[in-house]
Amino acid sequence: MGKLEGKYAIITGGGKGIGESIVKRFLEDGIGGIAVLEYDLNLAKEMITRLDTSDAEVLAIQCDVSNDNQVEKAVSQAMKHFGTVDILVNNAGITQDSMFHKMTDEAWDAVINVNLKGAYYLCKHVVPIMRKNAFGKIVNISSISAFGNVGQANYAASKAGLIGFSKTLAKEGGPKNINVNCVAPGYIETDMYKTVPTEIIEEHIKNTPLRRLGKPHEIASVVSFLSSDDASFLSGQCITVSGAATT
Ligand code: NAD
Repeated sequence: MGKLEGKYAIITGGGKGIGESIVKRFLEDGIGGIAVLEYDLNLAKEMITRLDTSDAEVLAIQCDVSNDNQVEKAVSQAMKHFGTVDILVNNAGITQDSMFHKMTDEAWDAVINVNLKGAYYLCKHVVPIMRKNAFGKIVNISSISAFGNVGQANYAASKAGLIGFSKTLAKEGGPKNINVNCVAPGYIETDMYKTVPTEIIEEHIKNTPLRRLGKPHEIASVVSFLSSDDASFLSGQCITVSGAATT
């Protein structure tokens, strides 16, 4: 029996990268169904074609997580389709990097609105369902940049915000059997990371004691663990998955 059997999940930004790997891992772990809330619906549809989804339904829903109306509609569409939400993974994220003294208000707002406010909107609509069910697992994807990283003041603030947000929801949701945790990936080979210049990549590898970049599936396995009853007494934590790298 898969460790996520009979469970229904919502994952944001699941069309590629770490999100796609989480969808794949959830399917391997026997999930009942997954709603993928994606900004780019084509990405989600292509992802579903790439994965073997014969044992569980993966529902692609177009949704910009920084838009409360769209999130509300997407959550009710997932509820209508699957009947419940047991697991929520806030994975959608963007970067708009620059040194702080050159950072625009637009870049600040865009990153905070997707990475932090997006998770807030999802939780706003999903936590009441979990409280009613007296069951829930929430995993928020943070980053080692949360602990400070040159050129990423907006991103670091959003990812550090997610840690405080998660620890607070864990304290409030605990009495209702809701576990809330963060995963803070290090340097992971995805499209987001492809924008990093080669010399910086070499520096990142040098700063990673395991001496390589991480793979998306190495984040997905930890997210699946945190979403399962194997982690039933684990809540309010931020698990760094970085090959021992710090920023
Ligand atoms: P990615 O760019 O490959 O994928 C991000 C996904 O989020 C895409 O499918 C994109 O369409 C979706 N998305 C973006 N904005 C959205 C919005 N407004 N609404 C809905 N979906 C949206 O990136 P990734 O590397 O797979 O990153 C996944 C998560 O992991 C992000 O939160 C990122 O910050 C975090 N992370 C990544 C790394 C890394 O090195 N790749 C390191 C630490 C943390």
